[in-house]
Amino acid sequence: MSFSLALTPARHDLVERTHAFARDVVRPAADRHDREQELPWEVIELAAREGFYNPLFYRDLIGDPTGLSLPLFMEELFWGCAGIGLSIVMPALALSAMAQAATPEQLLRWAPECFGAPGAVKLAALAISEPEGGSDLRNLRTTARRDGAEWVLDGHKIWIGNGGIANVHVVGATVDPALGHAGQALFVVPKGTPGLTLVRKLDKLGCRASHTAEIRFDGCRVPADQLLGGADRLERRLARARTADPSSNGRGPGSAALGAFEQTRPMVAAQALGIGRAALEFACDWAARREAFGGPILDKQGVSFPLADLAAELDAARLLTWRASWMAAQNVPYHHAEGSMAKLKASEVAVQIAERAVQVAGGWGYVRDHPVEKWYRDAKLYTTSEIQRLMIGRTLGDAAVEAPLHRRTRAEGAAIGLSLGRGTRRRSLAAGAAMRAAQRSPPRLLRPAMRFLGPPHKPRDS
Ligand SMILES: Cc1cc2nc3c(=O)[nH]c(=O)nc-3n(C[C@H](O)[C@H](O)[C@H](O)COP(=O)(O)OP(=O)(O)OC[C@H]3O[C@@H](n4cnc5c(N)ncnc54)[C@H](O)[C@@H]3O)c2cc1C
Repeated sequence: MSFSLALTPARHDLVERTHAFARDVVRPAADRHDREQELPWEVIELAAREGFYNPLFYRDLIGDPTGLSLPLFMEELFWGCAGIGLSIVMPALALSAMAQAATPEQLLRWAPECFGAPGAVKLAALAISEPEGGSDLRNLRTTARRDGAEWVLDGHKIWIGNGGIANVHVVGATVDPALGHAGQALFVVPKGTPGLTLVRKLDKLGCRASHTAEIRFDGCRVPADQLLGGADRLERRLARARTADPSSNGRGPGSAALGAFEQTRPMVAAQALGIGRAALEFACDWAARREAFGGPILDKQGVSFPLADLAAELDAARLLTWRASWMAAQNVPYHHAEGSMAKLKASEVAVQIAERAVQVAGGWGYVRDHPVEKWYRDAKLYTTSEIQRLMIGRTLGDAAVEAPLHRRTRAEGAAIGLSLGRGTRRRSLAAGAAMRAAQRSPPRLLRPAMRFLGPPHKPRDS
């Protein structure tokens, strides 16, 4: 399917409904939850009633072949508030990792537990990062060992969204540290499992409405069927990895969490776009109304030029995000780390816009009366730029051999286009011949000829 910016009526409706929810429900609650650093239970409940908080909703978004539904939803929701947005979409991150590793039976059993239902919403967490390192996921220190009909988990996790309070924790642990990713597996650890403890809730710079925590697993026992993917699949993978080239470091389902991060990069990029767009709208509106030295400050190029640059950068980042999301939806591999490109640009432009919005709002930008300083703090969460550059950098050696996307996608349309379509040699030669013939023709014949030779008519604005 071609890449297209056109929205179907259903997707248009999704954008409108999400925007209305972000404007009428999320924004009014944002300041209080940011100050009090309290999980927005009442907003999650309303999101559930609106249909934004259940596994099938996210399955639909991910299943959209245009790839647009997911980033559109994220941008609108996070335009409202990133902290509240994170609280709403956190179970989808856990579900995404689960879906890559779980058997169909496990998915059916645990996916509903990640969200609950209106009136009884539940929470889910993806617990991968550890105090010793969050970027280098090959070196997980949390261990899982088999003991009869159970797995026993021991380890320490930090920066975990919904950690310790989630009904379902999807936990990354190593069963064989020597095998890197291939020696890792994901486990489901439900709330209340003995040995799982919430060490502390973290006091964050931004996105403060979301719950982020440090948790521990001390002799934490889960039944064997809570190993996602099952024991047979794990054993086969470990056996394959043990006989494989050690430098390959395993790319099996043990890297499901990594896969989830990779797959969700455009989704996370779209979250940053939402913050950036909110801040840009505020800055432009403020600059149009605020007067200094005899007129609106937007009339000063010192104010409008940086905003103009950022407006262009934001749109460029959005297009990168939609391209990456379309590729993911169409199963087109990221040969040039297109997901990382989207996240790199979107996160950096969001911070730049928020910083500029603080600047444009002057003294008012520095105090908490307006949300600009909050957007600045919220946007900073997203700049994991070194890792995105690392991912892009790794592909640069292949760039010379791997053609750009438009040369790799397959051709669409009728076969006749191959001989007479726009840009073909035959069409171009025919056009040249027609032009020469037109020069020899009487002027009254030129008008009908120009119908074919002139630029195509664009529909006029009504
Ligand atoms: C609010 C919040 C929510 C989070 N939610 C979750 C969650 O739900 N689940 C979860 O598992 N994790 C979560 N994380 C963890 C997050 O994924 C990690 O913080 C992140 O992976 C970075 O890990 P780190 O802090 O250990 O940084 P480190 O890995 O120690 O990196 C430190 C710095 O060095 C840079 N760096 C690292 N390696 C390289 C390199 N090779 N080249 C150049 N620079 C490099 C990094 O970019 C970073 O700037 C969350 C974090 C935050 C702040």
